[in-house]
Amino acid sequence: MIIGKLKPLDEIVSSISRFRNVFIVGCGSCVTVCLSGGEREAKALGRELADPARYENAPPAVRVDTFQRQCERDLVQSYLTVPPDTEAILSLACGAGVQTLSSVFQKLPVIPALNTTFLGALDEPGTWREKCLGCGDCVLTYTAGICPIARCAKRLLNGPCGGSSRGKCEISKDVDCAWNLIVNRLKELDRLEDYEKISAIKDWSQDRGRGPRSAQRVANEPFE
Ligand code: SF4
Ligand code: SF4
Repeated sequence: MIIGKLKPLDEIVSSISRFRNVFIVGCGSCVTVCLSGGEREAKALGRELADPARYENAPPAVRVDTFQRQCERDLVQSYLTVPPDTEAILSLACGAGVQTLSSVFQKLPVIPALNTTFLGALDEPGTWREKCLGCGDCVLTYTAGICPIARCAKRLLNGPCGGSSRGKCEISKDVDCAWNLIVNRLKELDRLEDYEKISAIKDWSQDRGRGPRSAQRVANEPFE
């Protein structure tokens, strides 16, 4: 899922202080699950931003709502009702959601309340970790299901660097070496021979080098 983190309150206050009516919109999907931008967080942010002590002049009036998926343009167009006197929307969605609102409500500034941080998974209660960089050519088949691109600081594809020590990465004793994890998992799977193979050159053409990527799908379309 997409992980986000609330921006510092001072930054949010500064971005909305020139408006009189601000519509705060939480998102009901990823950022709800990672406890950063759902209904509860949107309401809590609304309470904080209504505090006059945070502003040099009069605070804006804030209204709060939550929308199930801010990243779906059709849904937003059909179902998100913005109060008529709104001067700015403050979105707690990821960057994709913020840009979707911005494209639908073209006359209104749409301001992000979150920093979108990474694509990750819940490893243990309260801890999400980065797992994928959306490279467009997944190599997990050959790396025992552990991503060397997202989880190795150097994105190495053919084994560890010389800095790997006692299972930890040279960047920090608190960070597992991805290649140590991969090798251990290959051992568990009795597939250590995969480690001996030199990987084919990865197809980086599916990564970001060619600008923003897009995908087209039609429901129930047969696989090619
Ligand atoms: S190899 Fe690419 S697509 Fe697969 S998990 Fe890693 S970054 Fe994501
Ligand atoms: S120590 Fe391991 S995870 Fe860290 S950069 Fe080297 S190979 Fe990658």
